Amino acid sequence: MNVERLLRENIKTIKAYSSARDEYKDASSDMVFIDANENPFQTNVNRYPDPQQSYVKERLAEIKDVTTTQILLGNGSDEVLDLIFRAFCEPKQDNVITLPPTYGMYSVLADLNAVEIKRVLLDESFEPKVSEILATQNDNSKILFLCSPNNPTANSFNTNKVEQLLRDFKGIVVIDEAYIDFSNQESWISRLNDFPNLIVTQTLSKAYGLAGIRLGICFASEYIISVLNKIKPPYNVNQLTQNRALERLNSLDEVNLEVKSILKEREQLITQLSDISFINTIYRSDANFVLVKVDDANKRYSQLIEKGVVVRNRTTQPLCENCLRFTIGTVEENKILIKTLNQL
Ligand SMILES: *Cc1c(COP(=O)(O)O)cnc(C)c1O
Repeated sequence: MNVERLLRENIKTIKAYSSARDEYKDASSDMVFIDANENPFQTNVNRYPDPQQSYVKERLAEIKDVTTTQILLGNGSDEVLDLIFRAFCEPKQDNVITLPPTYGMYSVLADLNAVEIKRVLLDESFEPKVSEILATQNDNSKILFLCSPNNPTANSFNTNKVEQLLRDFKGIVVIDEAYIDFSNQESWISRLNDFPNLIVTQTLSKAYGLAGIRLGICFASEYIISVLNKIKPPYNVNQLTQNRALERLNSLDEVNLEVKSILKEREQLITQLSDISFINTIYRSDANFVLVKVDDANKRYSQLIEKGVVVRNRTTQPLCENCLRFTIGTVEENKILIKTLNQL
């Protein structure tokens, strides 16, 4: 597959902004930095951040077993996804394929970039309908978004189906793995070298417990990363975020313990939810949330709010009629959820 052919015309020849800190980033050396119009007085953040986030990438490369040239970082996955749209989709001409019910940002970003969305619903087991997706694509279908584990349904997609799509879809396949750390499936990162059109996105917002610092991660071929690097804002990941991310990536034991605890709580919560009379279905979860079907989602949602418990009402999403989504909280929070549900 020729990925360059998929790029927008203007992106093929675009020149990146060359920032002062692209050339020298080691501000701790003896050199005099009077190149970037910064205030020279020390605040710890008076200098522009490393535009390539080298330290964070080096650590991530180690953890994920990729090269640093296969990584791009962004201000949350949201920025990463937006960059992918801008690299590949010609406004008012190209289209992308999404598989509802799924993460809302794909369609928000498509609208923002004036890119048409073709929607192919998941099947009744929340799996991709492979042949329908392939039949829907045309020459202008640039990106297929696969969210696995999927939000809000919580399941991971069947591996064979994903592989078939990677092989047969003629555009870029983005696999959004925001919840991969809660899943027992292997990340598709390990297949980057097999599929030049594969982009895997992850984030520090969920398992890593850093939603507040906004760090999204994109793994792809060196070629795709080089293109995204050219079009990203030069200082898109701020210094405080880089510092905090690195700290956390050096405390993986802590992260793993938290994930373990969340998974244990998930099992417990699922058992307890099965005793609630107005919950009709509990869908299998490979993430840090569960989707349940209740008798009347709007009613239960309001009742829960009244008692101070905020959940996500997904009833307006296709295939999610009367569905509520519960994030796995702390032991205490989960107790409150169960106690409150029992009171309704
Ligand atoms: C939460 C979530 C993200 C995370 O987005 P950030 O911008 O990195 O916080 C990405 N994808 C999906 C499907 C999510 O649910």
